[in-house]
Amino acid sequence: MTITTPKFDTTLLQNIFASQQKHQYTIAATTAKERIAKLKKLYNALDSTYRVEIHHALQADFGKNPAETDLNELYPILKEIKHTIKNLSNWMRDEPVDSPFALIGSRSYIKYEAKGVCLLISPWNFPINLTFGPLISAIAAGNTVIIKPSENTPHSTAIMKKIVIALFEPKEIALVDGEVEVATALLALPFNHIFFTGSPNIGKIVMKAAAKHLTSVTLELGGKSPCIIDHTADIKSAAKSIAWGKFMNAGQTCIAPDYVYIHKTLVERFLTALKDVIVDFYGTTPTSSEDYARIVNINHTKRIQGLIDDALEKGAKIVIGDNEAKQDSMIPPTVMTNVSLDSTLMQEEIFGPVLPILTYTDSEEVITHINKNPKPLALYIFGKNKKNIKYFLNNTTAGGTCINNNILHFFNSELPFGGVNTSGIGKSKGIYGFKEFSNARGVYKQLFPGAVLLLMPPYTDFKKKLIRFTMKWF
Ligand code: NAD
Repeated sequence: MTITTPKFDTTLLQNIFASQQKHQYTIAATTAKERIAKLKKLYNALDSTYRVEIHHALQADFGKNPAETDLNELYPILKEIKHTIKNLSNWMRDEPVDSPFALIGSRSYIKYEAKGVCLLISPWNFPINLTFGPLISAIAAGNTVIIKPSENTPHSTAIMKKIVIALFEPKEIALVDGEVEVATALLALPFNHIFFTGSPNIGKIVMKAAAKHLTSVTLELGGKSPCIIDHTADIKSAAKSIAWGKFMNAGQTCIAPDYVYIHKTLVERFLTALKDVIVDFYGTTPTSSEDYARIVNINHTKRIQGLIDDALEKGAKIVIGDNEAKQDSMIPPTVMTNVSLDSTLMQEEIFGPVLPILTYTDSEEVITHINKNPKPLALYIFGKNKKNIKYFLNNTTAGGTCINNNILHFFNSELPFGGVNTSGIGKSKGIYGFKEFSNARGVYKQLFPGAVLLLMPPYTDFKKKLIRFTMKWF
């Protein structure tokens, strides 16, 4: 089925925005019980009412196996809803803080209040997960939301629109679909918060537009996520984890290991193990496997092919994946060695099923290379030696890290998820997502006349001494 994007209507957007602005304080005043009721509705929609339609949509957009949709589209958000429902009353509670003695006669606390009208722009690679995931936090924090999903996954957008219309009123949550012009028109509006997931380049456009209204932003971006394999690593287990993390969704995962940096002594064993595990996962011709996703569209297929060709021209070799003719939007798991650091493959985020393997002998080389580049969204370390793991951890920075695995830090709602600088600003999931969509309002309450009355003008010699005394001791 071909889905056409409806004609873009600026007035409609402005009307939805105006209705949400009007309604925002009603939503902000909702109780934990009311917000939990909405989350339960969303849970049931995703877990039962629309689950099969979601499978079909992702199959149509990506050729994705329903099991993979369950595992990495639905499971993380269902888990996130359960976690939020369990903790929401606690998160919403006013948080008392200590007061200095000089403020005797008062009480202070933090009130987490909704930011207001929020814009949520999501990408195509995990369309359901990366749209409803942040929506859970926005609902939990009591916001109204306009969602703009990606134009690249029309079937997923269509089912999400159906769910949003079925569950929510537009004055509270609305989904508008469309291309860049819709995103641009939305960015012109004075939202109270923008939650954007996508590429660093578009992230800069979003931040610039937000600056016009001094709108706060959460930017969940991307970049190259390195994977280090130390000489003490369990090679078979590393190969299995990395093959799973890299080739799931055909490498179109923001936290997929972008490239591997492996100790020189292990490279041959690692390549053999990787070859075996790819066959175990997807058979000898992965592009005809039902368990292997395809590239989202022809433009991205050409982009990835361009990265491979450029690397080959600069001397790289394909060591796994050269046996299959590329067809339609299918690119097999492709592992390359001898990759020049000057090739585009090592300059840009790959976002496809191509894995460059670099080797090292001295850990310092690895650190120097990683730290010369923008701070990664994820960094993975495989090894058994605690001292080495600590060395890599303490001498780099990243949005998140898995030790002896990859991807799985995303699945734990107790951990903050996000990047650093180029790979992102702000954090999502669990309490971190709730706080991202909340204004931490500092409230000071005077209970009875305090000592501060003694410090007000006129500044007699006695008061000057008292102020000095207060500064020093209270
Ligand atoms: P993208 O930046 O091209 O698009 C993301 C969204 O921005 C889409 O909805 C798109 O319609 C919208 N958009 C496009 N042009 C725009 C403009 N000028 N103004 C405002 N909005 C605009 O990203 P993508 O190709 O959908 O996704 C891939 C990128 O997203 C990769 O870099 C990946 O690493 C990153 N990503 C990050 C995370 C994360 O959680 N950090 C998750 C998934 C993807």
